[in-house]
Amino acid sequence: KMLNAKELVSVVFDMLREIAQNINVELINEVDENTKVYADEDKLNLLLLNLVDNAIKYNKEGGKVVVKARTEKGYVILEVSDTGIGIPKEHIPFIFERFYRVDRSRSRELGGTGLGLSIVKHIALSHGGKVEVESKEGEGSTFRVYLPQSI
Ligand code: ATP
Ligand code: MG
Repeated sequence: KMLNAKELVSVVFDMLREIAQNINVELINEVDENTKVYADEDKLNLLLLNLVDNAIKYNKEGGKVVVKARTEKGYVILEVSDTGIGIPKEHIPFIFERFYRVDRSRSRELGGTGLGLSIVKHIALSHGGKVEVESKEGEGSTFRVYLPQSI
């Protein structure tokens, strides 16, 4: 199905708005109104929900979450950036594995199971796409999901 990316992001932001407000994290939807993405609506919603949930949960007081989208070489690239704690380089190769969590004690406090990113990866791959991450400890992270513009 052809989906409006900005609308999808705003639905996900609405689902997480209270959690974000509680820790004073600002949610910014910078997706262009015209960006269309070809995907299963429930699955793309779940993918974004997991990325934005992480971007809020591993953020800092007064931080931001920005979602952008662009089109490049036949792919729609959805980008979720945060100003949070970042991910130490040595952990990055493992974060998409099921149940993998960087800081066990901290993660336990925050709740969750460590499945979120494995679901994100599975959904991206099942759409013929991929997911990438760039992160700097103490500064924040950017997750990029590539989805083919059409099938
Ligand atoms: P769940 O998603 O099941 O609630 P989780 O958030 O711990 O639990 P994942 O979403 O799979 O699990 O993320 C795996 C680990 O990667 C997290 O425990 C966290 O350590 C790290 N991580 C994920 N996203 C971010 C982020 N945006 N900033 C910093 N660390 C992150
Ligand atoms: Mg998660």
